[in-house]
This record gives sequence, structure tokens and C-alpha cells, in this order.
Amino acid sequence: RFITLEGGEGAGKSTQIARLKSWLEGRGHRVTTTREPGGSPGAELIRKLLVEGPVERWDGTTEALLHFAARREHLRSTVCPALKRGDWVVSDRFADSTLAYQGYGHGIERGIFEQLYKVAVGDFRPDLTIILDLPIEIGLRRAAERRGSETRYESLPHDFHARVHRGFLEIAAQEPKRCVVIDATGTIDAIAGAIADAVRNRLGA
Ligand code: C5P
Repeated sequence: RFITLEGGEGAGKSTQIARLKSWLEGRGHRVTTTREPGGSPGAELIRKLLVEGPVERWDGTTEALLHFAARREHLRSTVCPALKRGDWVVSDRFADSTLAYQGYGHGIERGIFEQLYKVAVGDFRPDLTIILDLPIEIGLRRAAERRGSETRYESLPHDFHARVHRGFLEIAAQEPKRCVVIDATGTIDAIAGAIADAVRNRLGA
């Protein structure tokens, strides 16, 4: 089973992935956790190109190309081998982030996103996508408190993050079978409980 967690800045994805991993392990599953951009040695090299340096270095299309190159490598080296072993794979971000950030955020067309998806990923899709929904003001504040230098995306204007946020909710509305939106304003325990319920109901974990 392949589960992805999505959401804007500071939504709490990494905390919840650690919680979901131990919950799944408690139910007897073997779990591989991973992240995008990155998640394999080759894809982490591409991540560096994306997260280091000035934010205006790449245009939206180039960013999308780099994300999909990294994604293909991540699937080939990490995700597919783990699924083959029978592990559950939980990824911090996947293709919905590219549609939300480079599509809704930077304005690349949906058709281009779909073409790149087809070339880089083919017909493969997550079994379940959890979208953590947090007002952007709260998320940006948390992200700023947490990080020193690694990313520069938080410096993008408020309306960019508003478009990304709306993008995730629209993706969820378009694909209700695959996606679950979870309110991320609650406590860590409450959010972890809601995620576990979703995984149990949707995938029978
Ligand atoms: O999730 P994480 O904080 O590791 O992501 C690193 C940075 O990359 C974030 O600030 C996020 O906004 C950005 N990103 C992006 N486009 C994507 C995926 C992530 O701009 N498709």
C-alpha cells in the first residue's frame, strides 16, 4: 500500500508520518517512510537543486520537470522496491504537491502536469492521500519558527500560499476516492487519530 501525506507549509506532515508509521507497525505492518522532493540518493541530489539558491532561479515548468525527474528516480529506487517487499510506504509529499505548488501556485497548465505525470510515473497512483488542511497564516508561522535556512519557499507572497492551499482542496474534491482532507488545527493526538481512522476505513489496515 502506498500512502501520501500532502499539505502546505508547517501543516505537520513529518510529525504525523512518524505517528502513522508506529501505528501501522503496531498493527503488524512493515513500513517504509520517505519524502519528496528526495527520498533516494539520486532524488536528494535533485532536491538540493530545488531547495537551495534563490527562489526565482527556476520558472514553474522547470521546477515541475525537476520534481518529476526526482519523483521518477524516487519511485524506481525507493518506493517500488519497498512495495515489492510487501512494505507499506508512506511518503511526505508526492505528485499532488507538484500540481498544488507548480500548477496552482506558479500557474503551469493542468495539461502539462498530466503529460509529465504520464511520462515520469505512468498509471501508478497512491492508494490513499491524506491532505492536512491548515490556515496558511498558522502554517507559515510554524514553518518560520522551525526552520533556519533550508527552504526559501516561505518567502513567497501570501497569495501564492493561498493558491497552493486552494489547490490541495480542489484536488481532494476532484478525487474523493483517493483523497481525505483532515483538519490540522487540532492537537497532534487528534490529528493522528483522524489519520488512523482514515487509513483503517479506506485501506482496512
Ligand atoms: O515538505 P518540505 O518542507 O520538505 O518541502 C520543502 C520545500 O519545497 C517546501 O517549502 C515546499 O514549499 C517546497 N515544494 C515546492 N514544490 C513542490 C514540493 C515542495 O515548492 N512540488
